[in-house]
Amino acid sequence: MPLLSLDTVSLRYTSAGTPAVDGLSLAVEPGEVIALLGPSGCGKTTTLRLVAGFERPDTGTVTLEGRVLAGPSAFVPPEQRSVGMVFQDYALFPHLSVLDNVTFGLGALPRADAQARARSMLKLFGLEGFESRMPHALSGGQQQRVALARALAPGPRVLLLDEPFSSLDSALRVSTRGEVRRVLKSLGATVMLVTHDQGEAMAFADRLVVMRAGKVEQVGTPEAVYSTP
Ligand code: ADP
Ligand code: ADP
Repeated sequence: MPLLSLDTVSLRYTSAGTPAVDGLSLAVEPGEVIALLGPSGCGKTTTLRLVAGFERPDTGTVTLEGRVLAGPSAFVPPEQRSVGMVFQDYALFPHLSVLDNVTFGLGALPRADAQARARSMLKLFGLEGFESRMPHALSGGQQQRVALARALAPGPRVLLLDEPFSSLDSALRVSTRGEVRRVLKSLGATVMLVTHDQGEAMAFADRLVVMRAGKVEQVGTPEAVYSTP
């Protein structure tokens, strides 16, 4: 059974406009890294926002581990979805240390447990020794990995990444994405990534969903999608 599924989901932002997402169906298996790919404006970010709960679909159903997150008679708010997110500008809290950034979402745990968990996430991302630094004193790639550690610390069922590497220069982008992929795979994380970079999608994802005008145009492994004439 898929971990996450969208079933004929549609969303229009304005009643006059065309749908941003138009009868979209897709399923993500546990532990799978899936990339949404396609031209600007095709609905990739909107699809993530529907999974995160920042938008409610007009029609269709979003289901996570058999639980309806959004549908005709249900809507689970974002903070109750067990969905982690990293967007392109990472948005670390500038006035909090690296450790406090990662501990922030662990308020339900006793402080010592939260800090232990945050430290172990930072270690996974190669950030041991950076706990007391402030975000501005980190490189872009380090900030990006702190944002990932923060998103993963609460143990979300699915991780959403919107152009997570786009603000890094090209050499750093390639090394960071390789390292991040290894960590995500070691954790068995289920990931939905948005990118408009074909090379990034092919290097990072197990499966590609090519979107056009709010619809799924093609789904398959990178090899299958790019061997299609
Ligand atoms: P992508 O991520 O693939 O670039 P988006 O999901 O951001 O695409 O946008 C899909 C379509 O919805 C585009 O036509 C975009 O202009 C429109 N759109 C996105 N967000 C809004 C919004 N908040 N209000 C109105 N239209 C929006
Ligand atoms: P991306 O291309 O990375 O999806 P954009 O730069 O198109 O992002 O959009 C950035 C923000 O502006 C998003 O929050 C999106 O929802 C919003 N947005 C995009 N298109 C529109 C639009 N036509 N009207 C209003 N808001 C929009």
